[in-house]
Amino acid sequence: MSEFDCVRIDKDEAGYRARYAQISDADLMPGDVDVEVIHSAINYKDGLAVTGKAPVVRRFPMIPGVDFVGRVTASSHKDFAPGDLVVAGGCGIGEAHFGGWARMARISGDWLVPLPQDLSTVEAMAIGTAGVTAMFCILALERYGMTPECGPVVVTGAAGGVGSAAVALLARAGWKVAAVTGRPEEAEYLKSLGAQEIIDRAELAEPGKPLQSQRFAAGIDTVGSVTLANVLSQTQYDGAVAACGNARGMDLPASVAPFILRGVSLLGVESVRPRLALRREAWARLSRDFDRKALARMTETIPFPQALERARGIVEGKVRGRLVVEIG
Ligand code: NDP
Repeated sequence: MSEFDCVRIDKDEAGYRARYAQISDADLMPGDVDVEVIHSAINYKDGLAVTGKAPVVRRFPMIPGVDFVGRVTASSHKDFAPGDLVVAGGCGIGEAHFGGWARMARISGDWLVPLPQDLSTVEAMAIGTAGVTAMFCILALERYGMTPECGPVVVTGAAGGVGSAAVALLARAGWKVAAVTGRPEEAEYLKSLGAQEIIDRAELAEPGKPLQSQRFAAGIDTVGSVTLANVLSQTQYDGAVAACGNARGMDLPASVAPFILRGVSLLGVESVRPRLALRREAWARLSRDFDRKALARMTETIPFPQALERARGIVEGKVRGRLVVEIG
């Protein structure tokens, strides 16, 4: 029985704590595919998991890491064989099922997608759950009928992981992107991803009128709360906003005015459920459409021993773009 490094989260009479630990094959949770993890990432949710700031972890002990990429070492699943490179994300990984912050993972093959051929393992994790979520938002807007010809699109929490991916993907698709950030020092970074306008987060921070000047045709919101309420109030007739995050708050102090007086639609996006067909569609689009230079600009790769400290920083808004963690 081999032992390997992991990050382990416990909650018991001694309190809530996350630390580096050792685990063995026998401790892994059930699954029909064994994966040697190569890279994982740090998502906002991983920050919540290691700090305990929100109850995202649903069983203890838990290994965080809501997404990972690795090589299959054993499989009884029909779609996967030893040697295959695979990507995992969502599906309760790192929340209810052991995640990617360990040298080995055992997981259901139904939660895996083959690594797209033209993506490296680092690129796949640079995209990761953040990129998949941004793509789910874009697919939701497209299904609603939104195109770059409709007008500008706004992205909130733009310097974060989901936000950076959304800015880069929308700009590449021809949208005029307005990026909302609380970090003016990241304006050049956001422009390098393709943002045409930078909006100070403070402009959308205070409660405003139910209907405000129409600035945007569409939106991707990662922040929630008053910010999302203001985005809705500033969305033009027949526009749509895809909401996927709550970095500011879970609340939505809005009125129905944008919906009933301007025909604005609010599209909910979640990337956790397995929905394999949608996941495969998202990965195909991501590997086709993500500008590799933009992806490199928004990515920092860190060694595993730094993961815990950096995860604590993400919930304080200290992380720009995507943090990829070298596991294997
Ligand atoms: P990050 O921490 O990388 O990005 C969040 C960004 O939100 C920050 O970088 C910051 O952007 C902005 N922000 C943070 N605090 C505030 C605040 N108080 N007011 C306004 N803006 C704020 O996180 P991720 O990109 O990984 O995730 C973003 C959100 O999306 C999270 O809430 C996460 O839980 C959610 N999410 C949801 C998924 C789903 O399935 N629905 C899947 C993945 C993520 P800036 O510095 O530019 O202002």
